[in-house]
Amino acid sequence: MTDTPHSGCRAGCGACCIAPSISSPIPGMPQGKPAGTRCVQLDDNNLCRLFGDPRRPRVCLAFNFDADLCGSSRSEALQRIEELEQLT
Ligand code: SF4
Ligand code: SF4
Repeated sequence: MTDTPHSGCRAGCGACCIAPSISSPIPGMPQGKPAGTRCVQLDDNNLCRLFGDPRRPRVCLAFNFDADLCGSSRSEALQRIEELEQLT
């Protein structure tokens, strides 16, 4: 697995760092984060501050661009990930 955005991922989107809940600890968020809350590691350009950092949660490495989920815009992604959260 590589630590680079999967091809197709919109740099600066960051929807998958906001909409889903993350149960594993994140530096600065030891309890993880609730759904709909912006990760503290998401910088002002909506890029992860932990790229290449071993402290980056595994779940973040595992989240790859998925056309069905990411849609064609950031707002589509936010909405779809939020819907998925409500189903799980
Ligand atoms: S929601 Fe999709 S397009 Fe947006 S940052 Fe995450 S993987 Fe990339
Ligand atoms: S640690 Fe990085 S990739 Fe994971 S949710 Fe936070 S900003 Fe996104």
